[in-house]
Amino acid sequence: MTRPLTRPGKIVCIGRNYVDHVKELGNEVPKEPVIFMKPPSSVIGDGDAIVRPVHLSALVHHEGELALVIGARASFVTEEAALSYVRGYTCANDVTARDLQRLDNHFTRAKGFDTFCPLGPAEVDAALVGDPQTLDITLSVNGEVRQRGNTRQMIHPIAKLLAYVTSIMTLEPGDVLLTGTPAGVGPLVAGDEVVVEIERVGRLRNRVVDGLR
Ligand code: MG
Repeated sequence: MTRPLTRPGKIVCIGRNYVDHVKELGNEVPKEPVIFMKPPSSVIGDGDAIVRPVHLSALVHHEGELALVIGARASFVTEEAALSYVRGYTCANDVTARDLQRLDNHFTRAKGFDTFCPLGPAEVDAALVGDPQTLDITLSVNGEVRQRGNTRQMIHPIAKLLAYVTSIMTLEPGDVLLTGTPAGVGPLVAGDEVVVEIERVGRLRNRVVDGLR
């Protein structure tokens, strides 16, 4: 079954989790997962508009990602048990003001704007998705494929990510984890239609506008 998404209590994100994407941005392959957070106020749903904050940024990038939704309170989970804490999966776009990310020493401003976390179109039960490390993921802009990968290419697989994150903070039911993006990130401009499509999970479509909110 699928269920509508509700606003998560927190959104934990993994950066630099696909080798090809790490290289395209000129970064080193991380030995441990790189984690950061997006605020719940950044969430929008399928069909909503991504607003480019043109008062502060001139370079907004798309990042198509698999997201998971936590089903039970998770603290210090083992890799072996980790996937049993996942209630479902959905598509995500970790929208990023790349120019601000390069200026700042942290990701909060670059990734925290309102509308910068499209999620959807719905939460699909983990049982329906099966093995989450076998999923084709694509992102297209105006019908042209820009990102193409498979979740088997993750540097740190989901079970390891959950063990790592829950050794830092407790994850609560409804919390969301974004698992990183494959190569091919690039700019969005007003008028674009951006689609994240993940095998067995769904298709998340958003258009892009310029504005303050
Ligand atoms: Mg990302």
